[in-house]
Order: sequence, then structure tokens, then C-alpha cells
Amino acid sequence: MFFSFFCDAQQEYFQQRVNYKINVNLHDENSSLSATEEINYVNNAPQALDFIYFHLWPNAYKNNSTALAKQLLWQGKTDLYFSKPEERGFIDSLNFKVNGKSVKWEYDKEHIDICKLILNEPLQSSDSLIITTPFYLQIPNAKFSRLGHTDQAYYMTQWYPKPAVYDRTGWHQIPYLDQGEFYSEYGSFDVKITLPDNYVLCATGDKVINADEEDFIKKKISDTEKEIERRKGIKNEASTEDFMPASSKLFKTVEFKQSRVHDFAWFADKRFYVLKGELELPHSKRKVNSWVYFTPKNLKLWKDAIEYVNQSTTFYSFHNGDYPYNNVSAVDGSIMAGGGMEYPNITVIGEVSNAMELEMVITHEVGHNWFYGILGSNERDTPFLDEGINSFYEMRYLRAKHPEIKVAALAGKDSTFKLFGLNKIPYWKYQEIPFYVNLRARKDQAIALKSTEFTTSNYGGIVYSKTSLVMDYLMDYVGESVLDSAMRIYFDNYKFKHPSPNDLFKTLEAFTGKDLRDFQKHLIYSTDHINYKLKKSKRQEKGYALTLKNKTGSILPFNIYAYDKNNKVLGVHWFDGFADKRTVTLPEEAHHFKIDGIDRMPDINRKNNSIKAQGLFKHERPLRFNFLSSFEQPSKTQINYSPVIGGNFYNGPMLGLALHNYGFYEKRFEYLVSPMFAFNTKTPVGFAEFNLNFYPKSVFRSITLGTKAKTFAYDFYDTQFMNDNLGTNFKDLYLNYYKIAPYLKFEFQKKDPTSKITQQITYTNNNLFTDSLDTSAYQTFAVSGPIKKNNYTFINQLSYDLNNTRTVDPFRFNFSLQHTGSMAKVSAALNYQITLTKKHAIDLRFFAGAFLAGSLEERSYYAFRASGYNGWHDYAFEGNYLARNERNGVGFSQFMERDGALKVWSPLGQTPEWMTALNVKSPKFLKIFKVFGDVVVGDARALNTDKFLWDAGINIVFWNEIIEVYIPLLYNADIKKTLELNKVSFPNTIRFSFNIHKLAVKSILQNSFF
Ligand SMILES: [Zn+2]
Repeated sequence: MFFSFFCDAQQEYFQQRVNYKINVNLHDENSSLSATEEINYVNNAPQALDFIYFHLWPNAYKNNSTALAKQLLWQGKTDLYFSKPEERGFIDSLNFKVNGKSVKWEYDKEHIDICKLILNEPLQSSDSLIITTPFYLQIPNAKFSRLGHTDQAYYMTQWYPKPAVYDRTGWHQIPYLDQGEFYSEYGSFDVKITLPDNYVLCATGDKVINADEEDFIKKKISDTEKEIERRKGIKNEASTEDFMPASSKLFKTVEFKQSRVHDFAWFADKRFYVLKGELELPHSKRKVNSWVYFTPKNLKLWKDAIEYVNQSTTFYSFHNGDYPYNNVSAVDGSIMAGGGMEYPNITVIGEVSNAMELEMVITHEVGHNWFYGILGSNERDTPFLDEGINSFYEMRYLRAKHPEIKVAALAGKDSTFKLFGLNKIPYWKYQEIPFYVNLRARKDQAIALKSTEFTTSNYGGIVYSKTSLVMDYLMDYVGESVLDSAMRIYFDNYKFKHPSPNDLFKTLEAFTGKDLRDFQKHLIYSTDHINYKLKKSKRQEKGYALTLKNKTGSILPFNIYAYDKNNKVLGVHWFDGFADKRTVTLPEEAHHFKIDGIDRMPDINRKNNSIKAQGLFKHERPLRFNFLSSFEQPSKTQINYSPVIGGNFYNGPMLGLALHNYGFYEKRFEYLVSPMFAFNTKTPVGFAEFNLNFYPKSVFRSITLGTKAKTFAYDFYDTQFMNDNLGTNFKDLYLNYYKIAPYLKFEFQKKDPTSKITQQITYTNNNLFTDSLDTSAYQTFAVSGPIKKNNYTFINQLSYDLNNTRTVDPFRFNFSLQHTGSMAKVSAALNYQITLTKKHAIDLRFFAGAFLAGSLEERSYYAFRASGYNGWHDYAFEGNYLARNERNGVGFSQFMERDGALKVWSPLGQTPEWMTALNVKSPKFLKIFKVFGDVVVGDARALNTDKFLWDAGINIVFWNEIIEVYIPLLYNADIKKTLELNKVSFPNTIRFSFNIHKLAVKSILQNSFF
């Protein structure tokens, strides 16, 4: 078969070779290593080298300014940032020599985990040299990233000085990162590890025969088998303590050797149980040893893990090419941070909750031996070649082996678990979920980006998920056996090399015979979306003519399935992509048709993929009601429901039903309607909202045209006095409000998607229809009872919101302009958090507001309030008050932190002019307590003799910003006087906030994954 290497760069392909000899001693009393390293560096580049970059990645754990520390913070992980010095790690005692002579070397100016060796004389092309250095490694705590220890359990990865890759595009010196993997030179390793002799040790490579060690491992295996047998009978075993035995005083040295790998990792734990298996490779029939190592705590979970390692090694070998090494291992690393991680021949598996998940993670990590280990692509720059392609095979493994298991299994539930429709999605399809969440919110990114360019959620949702889905679609198109043979050729041609995306796609094109330029353009290198629609079907003499529309312009091949009445497939037809509209004819006497019959295309809207052959309602989809919410089933019209209960002082208890279509993926049109019955007033009440989302793909991520509406009673006219005096029997008259607030919201597109800053502008038109007593009809009240009338007012609001969710010192800023026909006021609020430790922060709030226009009467109605908003101050009916218009009891105590946000109630500081305020909350103590302090200044008329209003006291946080209680203890003299004057006793000064309106069904569902 013909094949040539396609070169995409100016230079011919070459790769360096690096052979290592390392002697290392573990000092487990202080979790450090001392070692010597000897490297044979072979320069296969056509040019001479004057220097060599080295990675000193343990230094990533040294301080707060390393690239790792900054990235972890960006990910929202503060462990390293706030770590104690003794938890951190570093590498030092380096003394580089080249061919026995000292050389100059220097740390990279920006990254202390990179250094540069300046060679005494240039290393000529095809020449090699010997680099030696001792090194000392202080092992960091394993909770930060991949290298570390937990007590005396050791995860030794990226632990030794290592030359950076030099290839035809130059040097690839890269700092260690958590999000963003590796790129390394191939070569050989000969590593001798010395440590107390009761450690179980596992590593990359083949163990050099050592009789004592052999006996030690044999005994461990038999102990493990006995323990599994013993625990079989025990149902509810008491929690098995992972007791850490003392280290032996005797030491052993174990040697591992491996060639054709680009990294070396080792793991040591005194508690490990060990199981050994064997598998036969499908093509060469060669035998490979399989190993699993796990802690006593996870014995039950891991007892069948050899089977998972064997099956996945066989599966990947069959589809891609035989595993080229002698040993394949999986190690239980559940006590360190994060999920699984791959190293050549050996993978470490993070915390998993059930056997199904363990099998899935082992399969994924073992699979990396092919896509990472054997094909050594640059994972930092093109992570999809490793994580994405590997996830595609993981998906195929799950589909082949567990076609019946549903995604409910991920949540540890069996496949009958119905909530959220988790019983409808096959387990192997779980990759669709993180992808569609971001795709539908138009927060997706292109596949072919660098690791560091992805948001944390897209690193999973695009690199892993979208790549696997896109490959699955390609396989549907070219056929499984064709794709498999193309991928085996890719593997064969590029094993132990550094393939690029171009190498992959050129191979696929050559061996599938398909032009994949559009595939790459729309699906790999851009965020182009796919959306084909089946518009019409028309009877033909034979079969049907179907009219299709391409709604996005991404020209990609697609299939149409023809089905009979019982959903039996009558035919599958593939078509080349087209730009806008097309009619095709299908010969089948079908009942219905579907584009992308088995859902393999990452189509943004699958709802328009089906059509009935005949009938009036060709696009009709049966209704389906789901409790709470559900994942989308494109063939159904889904309505979600849940009971709603509520209550307020006027309406009494309320009971109703919420109907909505909010799901886990954003929709173009979204609604929530919640009618309720109020038992006291015996009236219908409730709320509703509608959103219509547009995605302009330019300055704004989304533009939403929405409406919020609600109606409740907010006051009442007590007829008791009237009835007592007049001898009448009139019922109390309840006053309602009806609010309808259409709004237009513009959410800005982020220039850099990884930015933590979101900005939006919202214009809201609040229409308020409020009942009041019709005093003009007062004379007739004695006959008719009290009469109410309804008044219309409006208040419009333009607001700009900026939210910076950075991990340290996050803040949010709001500017708003409110106006009626003749009144206008502006205000700005900045909420700034000063982060002190992992769990402690000081909250600051600055507020300033002023009136721009309006009569004194209007300005007094819309006044700035020093003590926040009680129910009767909430003129736009924003909050949910339990007794909106009551001046005592709950009605007096509930408030919203607005304007001056004094926590103590005071009639002072209600200003028709201007106001500024500073509000401070201390870090939490005793879990739920804070100290608060507030200062408010307004124009003189709003004050009394004191120039400032201030208070201080205790804040109890039951649910941050939703349910909080304030106990004012100190305040200025004027406030004290007015409290006395109003006879407000100490218990009545305690106020609370109940901001249930801040909880939105939409954001709870759509942010639940990340
Ligand atoms: Zn992976």
C-alpha cells in the first residue's frame, strides 16, 4: 500500500531521542527524594543546538506565582494558593554537567519550572551528549495536582529534570499546568528506586528480575485473593480503615526498564493490594501482563479491575493496533485530587463511586497508552488528538460492551431511574451532555484550540466530548471498518512519533477516500454549527420527495433514514452537504423519515430532523410530561411540571402547579407558568416568565427578549371597624398587584472566553397595575362595602452589570438608571470581596445614588432609603415579601439590602436627593456568623443632628444572600432616639432578608453541570 509522509511545515520531520538512567532514594520520613540522573541526548535535528531547555516541573508547586498556581486559581482551586509552606514542593540541588564538564544554566525568566542549559560547545546534528545532574525533590501534597504524596502514599509523576521537545517548529519549553498536558521526547528509561522494603511499588516499564521482590509481590497477590475471598461473605463490613503501616528499617532497590516511551511514572504505597492477570493481543497473539494496585478501602470496588484492564487493552489493540509493551497497569489513586491520569504503561485512577464508573475510567486511561503514550502528539497545543480521539474509543467501548446501561448509572442509579430522563440516554452517550450544555448556550469553542485557550467546561465539553461525537459522526459516514483500517494505518505510521492534526486528517482522507476539508473546517477548526431541517414531504409516483433546509450553512454530509409505522428501518441514504435548500427523492413507501437517523451528527437542533410522510400534522410530536425537568427527547414535545407551594400574609397558603420547558440545555424559546390558588382570598395568583433568545454571533453572546409577570395580594382593607360600627357584615377587601415586565437583555460576548468577567445590559419596562381603595366612592361604602380601583404606573430601568467571578477578590458592579414619565434616578453599587483565606473573606459594598429629575412628591415616593427596602418601599415589586404592607411583625422585619442597606430599621435617611453608603461584613466565624457594619450619608434633609447614620451588629447567614438574619447592636444616637420614639424594642430591631426571587429555575438547571 502506498503511503508518504505529508509534511505541513517548512522542514522535514525529525525527532530527538532522550535516554535516561535515574537512581532515586525515597525518604519517606520527610517525603523527599534524592536522585542522580544521566541523560543521553541525541540530536537528530538537521541543525546544531547551542542550548537545551529542561523542564523542572516539581517547581510548579513551589509558590503562588508559578503558571500552575495561577491556573489552579483561575479554575477556582485555592488549595495551592493558600497552602502551608510544608505542603508545597520543589526541585533543587541541581548541578548540571555535560560530558562530565560543568555548564552554565539559568532559570527561565518567567517560569521557575523551566531552565536552559547553555552548552559549552554546540551539539552538532546527529551527535549526542551525556548530561548528568543530582537532584533533590521535596514532594508536594497530592491535593494540588498530579505529583504528590498523601501521608506515605506516593504518586511520582513529572518528577525528574527532563529536556523539552525540540522539533521542526522549534523548542517547546512549557510550564507545568493542570489543564493542559504534555509533549515529550521518546527514548528509554532505566530507573532504580530505593525505598523501605515493605512498599508495593509499580511503575512504567518492565521490572528487572529480582527474586526477593518477586516473592514479595507473589505474597501480596495471594494475600489479596484471600482478602477478597474473606470479604465476600461480609455484607455490612465495618468501614475498613486504610491504616498506614510503619516503614520497614530494611531497604530494597527495584529497577524498571522501558524503551520507546516518553515519560516515566512510579507509585508506592505500603497498603496496596495487588492483582495480576494476562491477556492475549488480538493481532499478534503476544501475551501482556496486566496489573492492578488498590488500597484496602477500595477492595470491593477494584476486585474485578483486572478484567477492565484486559478488556480495554484488547479493545484498543483490536481497533488501533497491538499494545507494544509487556505490562499494563492501573493504580488506585483515589486519595489524590482529580480524576484519572495516564502515564506510559501505567495509569492512576481517581475517586470513582461505582464499578461501572471504575470500568469507564480504567478504559479511558488505559486507552491513553495509544493516544498519548504510543502516539506522542503535542497535547498542550492539540489536546483533541489525545483526549478527544481517546474519548471516541472509550465511547465505542461502552457502546459495544454496555449498550443497555443508561446514563443514570453515572449517578449511581440503575437504568430504571426515571428522573430527568436519565433512563433514556445510553451511558455511552454521556459525552453529549457537557457538549450540548455549552453548544446550546453558544459558549462552545473550536476543537483545534490549545489547552490553555479553553474554558474549564469546554476543556471537557469540547476537547473530550465534541471530538468523540464528531469522530462518531465521521465513522457513521465512512463506515466502521473503513475508519478502523484508516486509524490502524495512522497508528502504524506514527507510533512513537509526534503526529499533528494534519497527519491524522491526511491519513483519514487517503484511506477513506473522502475529502474531509469541510469536515475539518466546520467541525474541527471553527464553532460552525450543524442544523439540517426536514421541511416538506410530498408523495411521488414511487416514494417521496423530501425538501430539506440547511439552517446554518455548514456543508456536511448527512443521512436520511426511512421508517415504517413500527419504526423499522426501511432504508438509509447518504447525501452530500449543500448550502441552503434542496429536494431529494427517496424510493421507500415509508411512514416517516429522519435526518441523521441514529443521532450521530452534532446537530444543534434535532427537533426539526423528522417528518411524517403523510398527513396534516407532519411535524407533530407527542406530548410528554416530566416531573421537574428532563434531558431533551427531540421526538417529543416535553412539558415539565412540579407542584408549587407558597404563602403570604394576605393570600394565605397557596398551592399550584409550575409548567415549564427549562431543561439542561438552553432553548430559543423558554417559558415558565405557575398558576396557584390562594386559599385565604380564594383567588388565582401566580407568576410566569417567557424568554426568546437570539444569538447574533457578534458583540453579544445572546440577546433575550423576555417578560416576567406576577400577581399577588399586597394589602387589605380591614372591614372589622366598619362592621362593628355599622352593623354590616362586609368581608375584608384584598388589594392585588399585577406586574408585567417585558425586558431586553444583551449579554456581551467575551473577547477571551477564558475571562472571568461577564457583562450585560438590560432594559426593563415594569408595568404595575395596583389596587387601591377607591376613596372617591367612600360615601357608598356603607351600602356596597369597600370598593377598590386599579391604578397603572410604570418604571423603566436600564442597567449595566459587570460580574468578575475570579477566585480571589471577586466583585460585581451594577449601574442603573430608573425613570418614569417625569422622574429619573441613577445609582451604582459595587460588591467587592476581599479574600483572606480559603474560607474567609471580607465583603464590602459601596453604594451611591442621586436623582436627576422629578417633582419632590415623586422623588419622595421613589426615595433612596438608608435602611433598605421594607415591603412597602419595593415600588417595582421585585422582591417576594411575606407581608408586603404590614408595619409590624414579619412585615416590619423583612427587608432587602438596597440603597443604604443599614440593617437596623430607621425612618431616618429617606432622601429625595442623594445618598452614599459603605457596608462591611466580616469573615464568617462559628460557621454561620459574621459581624456587620454600615455607614450612610445622605443630603442634610434626610438626617437629623448626626452627620452619618451607622450601625453594627451580628449577621447570621443561613443561606448566603438568600436567607440572612441581622441583629443590630450598635447605632448612632439619632437612630436610637427614633427607635425609642417609635417604641421599637430590641427583639423588634432584628431583621431578616428572604430573597427567594434570586433563585431561578433556568440557571439552577443550566449551571448544574459545571
Ligand atoms: Zn484522558
